[in-house]
Amino acid sequence: TLLLELSGIAKSYGGAAALADLSLAVGAGEYISILGPSGSGKSTMLRVIAGFETPDAGDVRLDGRSILAMPAHERGIGFVFQGFALFPHMSVADNVGFGLRNRSRSPVTDEAEIRRRVAEALELLGLTGLGARAVSQVSGGQKQRVALARTLVADPKIVLLDEPLGALDANLRERMMIELKRIQSQLGGTFLHVTGNEQEALAMGGRVAVLDQGRIAQISPPQTLYNQP
Ligand code: ADP
Ligand code: ADP
Repeated sequence: TLLLELSGIAKSYGGAAALADLSLAVGAGEYISILGPSGSGKSTMLRVIAGFETPDAGDVRLDGRSILAMPAHERGIGFVFQGFALFPHMSVADNVGFGLRNRSRSPVTDEAEIRRRVAEALELLGLTGLGARAVSQVSGGQKQRVALARTLVADPKIVLLDEPLGALDANLRERMMIELKRIQSQLGGTFLHVTGNEQEALAMGGRVAVLDQGRIAQISPPQTLYNQP
């Protein structure tokens, strides 16, 4: 079933088009890699979906409803930021629970519920036992997991990942690719994973959307990505 639909999205900055008539349909439970060179519009596309940016034209529909007029925090969209955006002096558990406690729409006030949900998210990411550790005291790979846990604990309808593996070395990158796939299938979640790395996009297994100058040039499974139409 169709979950997310972008249609005719355009966005320019000072006359230069970052997105031009971009359309994309994402089914529930899909893992989609968005592959494109630097400047092709990947981050802008995610920011438009998340609501950090308003497009000049086009529509974004989630579950059949237009979400363009909805503020970012009401959309039910999870975002994993490029440098993780964690609070280094707070504990792993407090970072993961921060959004639940502090979100403007229906913050969770039941501490027992927060503890349970944080523990669940830590377990999903293999971080059990690290909850009390300060984020500044965990490794790069663990920070990446904390960032994912922080996003997933909110139970988003769709997860947007902006170059999620860009800060990791080659070894860790391989491991996190496997972890991301495991987590997505375990949750039955819908993931949009932006990357400039062709190997990474192909290895993630779902459909690959190739972004070129602000539009989707093609979208296909890895097996047929290089076939002639
Ligand atoms: P990618 O994520 O693929 O590197 P971006 O979406 O960041 O691409 O950028 C697409 C184009 O839009 C680039 O030419 C970039 O310089 C421009 N751009 C993106 N964000 C802004 C902004 N806030 N102000 C001005 N130009 C921007
Ligand atoms: P880029 O992908 O262009 O390098 P970033 O990934 O750092 O940029 O950030 C993407 C966008 O998300 C930025 O335009 C920024 O305004 C927004 N953003 C970053 N961090 C947060 C945050 N914690 N809360 C809300 N918006 C954020």
